[in-house]
Amino acid sequence: MPNVPEIFGCRVFNDATMKERLPKGTYKALKKTIEDGKSLDLSVANVVAHSMKEWAIENGATHFTHWFQPMTGITAEKHDSFISPTPDGKVIMEFSGKELIKGEPDASSFPSGGIRATFEARGYTAWDPSSYAFIKDGSLCIPTAFCSYTGEILDKKTPLLRSMEVLNTQALRILRIFGDETTKRVDTTVGPEQEYFLVDKKVFDSRKDLIYCGRTLFGARPPKGQELDDHYFGTIKTRVSAYMKELDEELWKYGILAKTKHNEVAPAQHELAPIFDTSNIATDHNQLTMAVMKRVAERHGLVCLLHEKPFAGVNGSGKHNNWSMSTNDRKNLLDPSKNPRENTQFLVFLAAVIRAVDEHQDLLRLSAASAGNDHRLGANEAPPAILSMYLGDELEAVLSSIEKDEVYKNKDAAIMKTNANVLPNFVKDTSDRNRTSPFAFTGNKFEFRMLGSADNIACANTIINTIVADVLQDFADELEKVDKKDIKTAAEALIKKTLEEHKRIIFNGDNYSAEWVKEAERRGLLNLRSLPDVMPMYVSEKNVKLFGKHGIYTEVELRSRCEILMENYCKIINIEALTALDMAKKDITPAVAAYIRELAETVNLVKSVDADIITIPESELMKKLANLLSCFLKKIDILDKAVVQAKEVEGGIAKMSMYYKDNVLAAMQELRAVADEMESNMSAKLWPYPSYGTLLFSV
Ligand code: ADP
Ligand code: MG
Repeated sequence: MPNVPEIFGCRVFNDATMKERLPKGTYKALKKTIEDGKSLDLSVANVVAHSMKEWAIENGATHFTHWFQPMTGITAEKHDSFISPTPDGKVIMEFSGKELIKGEPDASSFPSGGIRATFEARGYTAWDPSSYAFIKDGSLCIPTAFCSYTGEILDKKTPLLRSMEVLNTQALRILRIFGDETTKRVDTTVGPEQEYFLVDKKVFDSRKDLIYCGRTLFGARPPKGQELDDHYFGTIKTRVSAYMKELDEELWKYGILAKTKHNEVAPAQHELAPIFDTSNIATDHNQLTMAVMKRVAERHGLVCLLHEKPFAGVNGSGKHNNWSMSTNDRKNLLDPSKNPRENTQFLVFLAAVIRAVDEHQDLLRLSAASAGNDHRLGANEAPPAILSMYLGDELEAVLSSIEKDEVYKNKDAAIMKTNANVLPNFVKDTSDRNRTSPFAFTGNKFEFRMLGSADNIACANTIINTIVADVLQDFADELEKVDKKDIKTAAEALIKKTLEEHKRIIFNGDNYSAEWVKEAERRGLLNLRSLPDVMPMYVSEKNVKLFGKHGIYTEVELRSRCEILMENYCKIINIEALTALDMAKKDITPAVAAYIRELAETVNLVKSVDADIITIPESELMKKLANLLSCFLKKIDILDKAVVQAKEVEGGIAKMSMYYKDNVLAAMQELRAVADEMESNMSAKLWPYPSYGTLLFSV
């Protein structure tokens, strides 16, 4: 049993370590930098770097690396050793303040969406002192932001930090309006719940689709899926439990607050949730968590799949982004308190989120768009591609009383009677939950449920922070003009107006139902099913203006991001199509042909014994498979052509991505349908890949 408090954060150069190791003056200067967001003096940086290096070497590190989050979505690192030669032919271990605060990786091979030509490949990484350095695999990792020589941002972290600043500024204005003169800072907080699948490494290794694409491209339905609901919260199997234990320990060592673990809905699917933190730390930690999840799996003979839809027919994996705002003394601004009707400040923040979500459905939908996640959102599975919000009965009633100028009667907390003497009765929550809502208020935070399991959460949180800050700015502009004694009346009028204009976004019913799709259309809500549908909206006039106004992205940066995301989409589908073709031609076709031959031999043998025999069952099966195979070969041909034609699509990347969706992806789907039908009729021994049954139930 590990001593958890002792191992927690042992690989992190955290506040306690800094306090212990840094000279008092340096520690204070660094703290000030972190808290006030000021840039770091080089003389201070030198002392910090020295101390960091000594600590890292004591803990087994030989290298350092700036650790950043380029547009690939995963983290990047380039390791330099601490060694520096001495005249006597030996080395000493060195690390300077300059190396700590700035790096210059050759950036030409990171996606930049045309911002940076390869001849000016210089990129800069700059230390983000608000995120602690840590040791991973013998290297001191320094969390950094990443930008180009000409200053355009090339990463996911910088806009997030910017958006947190913007929200801080606007939220403070609202607090001041309500008489709070003491709060120094408002941070956004995030707790991302991470879903994942575990499969056996040996099984994984025999499937090209999993190796190249992270998801299965073929596979007939197994006799059992998730219909019995027997996996969700079920007892965790020994092997999985051992994995989860080691994962927790590893994460704790990195100072990550891993808290909850359980089985998810689909077989072989699980979830891990940390305790929430500020958005930038939560983002770094989630990136690190995903990397550690994969690595620990290897040690258990398992593979951790973070793809949003590894298997057809069972649930895919998402990432629930729990979001709120908190003051520097940890007051949660989305806490309704005992009497929300009288908590006007809370209601103003709530109204701001409602308007933000309604006005920027496109951006929120876009923040969760990816080739992988397109298989979940809107594709008959949770959650739908339509944005809506759930507030719960109590808040609905509160808001409706404001809207209708009615008196609101506080609901008394109900007592839950268990009617069993041994069980205690308990106080019920004032509202139930809605599991199907993509943007649900869950007591004192919003849970944005659209994100895909593999997503970097930076993009979604940059957007949530920016759109909420934008509305808060409007609110503050209006309320600052009002006399202090009239604030409550003015704020209520503002809330009322906001509700009138934006209540169409609130929906408490079943978001998975077909009626909702119709109802949403009636309400004029967007229903953008795929990345090619939504991504071009990134650079709409509204959005260019929004991001420009708050200094999050310039138009050039926005256009480049949009291009990178669409390019990435095309590349992923291209790889999937090539993989599907490879499997179809080299493995599936020969396997089915061999089985047909086997059947033909049987038929011939029977005929040679009895030439007059009329029905031979094998002959029926042989004909069926021969038909399927010839259909399969035609589908191969269609996909082959679509892949070639995709490359020739003219008119820009938006058109090309649409072509990939409508033609390449569609052709893959058709190819798969025939393959799955053949698999269902084939000898298991001759089928070239482990079945869905084996994949989902082998651990
Ligand atoms: P569920 O699975 O029922 O949605 P969990 O307890 O698994 O809920 O996850 C809730 C997540 O929300 C946790 O990561 C938790 O730390 C996070 N959370 C709680 N309060 C806040 C908050 N104020 N801001 C951001 N995240 C929060
Ligand atoms: Mg949740």
